[in-house]
Amino acid sequence: MNRRNFLKILACSTAMSSVGSTLFAKTIISEEDDYYTVDSLNKLGQDKPKDIFLDQKYHDSFYSVIKKLNLVQRHVGFGNYNILSFDEAVNTARWSNKIGSFSDEELEFMEYIFYYNPNIHGFYGERTCQNITDTIDKNNIVKIPYSGHYLFKDRSLDTYNNMIKDIGNSIILTSGVRSVMKQMKLFLDKLDRTNLNLSQASISLAPPAYSFHSSGDFDVGKKGFGYDNFTERFALTEEFSKMIKLTYVDIRYTINNKDGVRYEPWHVTVV
Ligand SMILES: [Zn+2]
Repeated sequence: MNRRNFLKILACSTAMSSVGSTLFAKTIISEEDDYYTVDSLNKLGQDKPKDIFLDQKYHDSFYSVIKKLNLVQRHVGFGNYNILSFDEAVNTARWSNKIGSFSDEELEFMEYIFYYNPNIHGFYGERTCQNITDTIDKNNIVKIPYSGHYLFKDRSLDTYNNMIKDIGNSIILTSGVRSVMKQMKLFLDKLDRTNLNLSQASISLAPPAYSFHSSGDFDVGKKGFGYDNFTERFALTEEFSKMIKLTYVDIRYTINNKDGVRYEPWHVTVV
C-alpha cells in the first residue's frame, strides 16, 4: 500500500495467516457491551479540562466507517474479528459487494484515529502499537472455548488457567486478544455512544493504538453477571475478592490511575 509510505512504520509483530473458526453465542459478553458508569466519569471528571470532541471534518467518515466495520465484523464473524488486521479488514470490505472498498477519506480517518496523540483529551496511557498495520501472530494465540475470545500462549494463558484453578469455574474470559481493528471498532462504537466526545470515550476505552489487549492483558468476569462485569459492581463479587488475593494477579486500571482511565477491576495486567 503506497499510502502507508508516509506513515511512521515500526512493525511490532509478524504476519497473521487465515483466522480460525468462529464461535457465535448470544451469551458472549464483550466490551462492545461495556458502558461507563456516571459515577466513574464524575470521579475522573473533577480535575479534567473541557471535553474534547471529534473534529467536524471527520464526522461523515466516522459514521461511514462505523457502518463498514459492523459489516466487516458480520462478514468474518465475532471471534475472527477480534484478531483481524487493518489490511484484512480493508481487503474484506473491498472483496465483498455488500460492503465495498473504504474510501480515501475513510482510510485517512482511521489513520488519524490511530496516530493522533490522545493526551490532548486527557488520556495518558502508553502507546502499545506503533503501526496501524500491526498484526496478531496467529501461532502465538489460542482460542478459549465458549468465549469467542483468544489469549496469547504462555503468560496470558497460564495466568488465566491458574485463575480458574484458584477461583473456580465461575470466573470467565470476557475479552482477550484484540487487534488494532478490534480496538478501533470498540473505540468508535464508544465514541458514538458518547456523542463524539473523545475525552469521555477514552475514560472507558483506550484509543486503538493504546490497548494492552494487544500485548497480553485480558478481562475477566463472573459467569452470569452480564453487563455488570464491566462496571464497578464486579468488584463486589466473590470472584473478585478471591482474585485480588492471588499474588500473580495485577489490576491495570486501579482507582485514580494516572492513565486517565476509569477503575477497571476486571482488567488483568500481563507483562
Ligand atoms: Zn480490558
